[in-house]
Amino acid sequence: MKAQHGPQAMYVAGGTDLYPNMKRRQFEPKVLVGLRGIEELHGLSNGNGLTIGAGMTLTELSTHPEVARSYPSLARAAGLVSSPQLRNMGTIGGNLCVDTRCTYYNQTYQWRKSLGFCMKKDGDICWVALSSPRCLAVSSSDCAPVAIALGAHVRLVGPVGERMIPAAALYREDGMEYIEKTPDEVLASIHLPPSEGWRTAYWKLRRRGSIDFPILGVAVALKLGAHGTCAEARIVLGAVASQPVQAAGAAAMLVGQKITPELVEQVARIAYKPAKPLDNTDMALSYRKKMARVYVAGALAEAVGLDRAGGLYDSQKDV
Ligand SMILES: Cc1cc2nc3c(=O)[nH]c(=O)nc-3n(C[C@H](O)[C@H](O)[C@H](O)COP(=O)(O)OP(=O)(O)OC[C@H]3O[C@@H](n4cnc5c(N)ncnc54)[C@H](O)[C@@H]3O)c2cc1C
Ligand code: SF4
Repeated sequence: MKAQHGPQAMYVAGGTDLYPNMKRRQFEPKVLVGLRGIEELHGLSNGNGLTIGAGMTLTELSTHPEVARSYPSLARAAGLVSSPQLRNMGTIGGNLCVDTRCTYYNQTYQWRKSLGFCMKKDGDICWVALSSPRCLAVSSSDCAPVAIALGAHVRLVGPVGERMIPAAALYREDGMEYIEKTPDEVLASIHLPPSEGWRTAYWKLRRRGSIDFPILGVAVALKLGAHGTCAEARIVLGAVASQPVQAAGAAAMLVGQKITPELVEQVARIAYKPAKPLDNTDMALSYRKKMARVYVAGALAEAVGLDRAGGLYDSQKDV
């Protein structure tokens, strides 16, 4: 159906991002191809890790005992998306494909029109940086940085066949062409590698305790070897650019080391540097940048079970 209708058609899963975008005339498809009835997109299967159908709702994912036990950061990220109603409808596939966001874009049609629109839809200028040749809208998925930190792969199925790519290769640093997937391809499933030995955490910053998109998301994953020495590490920052950003240099500092509070602070001071938030989402960008350091430290401390003084680093446990 999608191939038949071409660019006039869009896929819809839960519709929790697509329908609001249609109301604001950011998306104007003539045909919607519903994915919810496709049985193969649902459910979860074990075997050399975990395979999650893209049609699984965020509620199902966040409350699934196997996900909560083996991939707690994914369960938490899914459980922190928007509100219970939207998590009941919204899917993990939709979350990984969710549109990028910007203060000048996520507005009504009339609001955007009064400004003369912008390059992402109907216009030709970027209001965030007037000389920018590209759109700087922000990757705002909670689950995307976690999928990358977990080393997940995604299976894309299209009219000409299917392919499996690392979740890290699914995103581009471009607010308009933000996803490395042809419009005809369906994201069918997410494949998580075995979790043995891995410790993970996800921390999300937003103004309110519910509804709000992340204005910073920090996903960490550490593989601990003998005597608690770190064998592998990944630190991924969400909502700081048009794609999730890996702090690879900082993560490398953890490898071969025992994780101490001092090392966590040292790594966090490096990890927050690739975060280059702009003035196109909620809260001041200098605050968001500073919080990246605090949240990296918190997420790392939580992942390895470090006891932190003052309770600051426990704050996300109550969210
Ligand atoms: C008030 C509000 C608050 C929100 N807060 C958050 C938040 O805190 N964090 C967050 O991450 N998101 C948030 N969202 C966005 C959205 O609810 C979630 O990202 C949700 O997971 C999207 O899933 P969906 O199934 O509803 O996607 P849909 O709306 O159906 O689709 C989203 C996009 O993905 C495409 N798509 C969907 N499924 C597939 C697939 N299997 N293969 C290929 N393409 C596909 C659609 O064509 C569309 O472009 C919020 C939305 C609202 C309205
Ligand atoms: S970053 Fe610029 S082009 Fe992109 S949505 Fe915002 S104002 Fe528009």
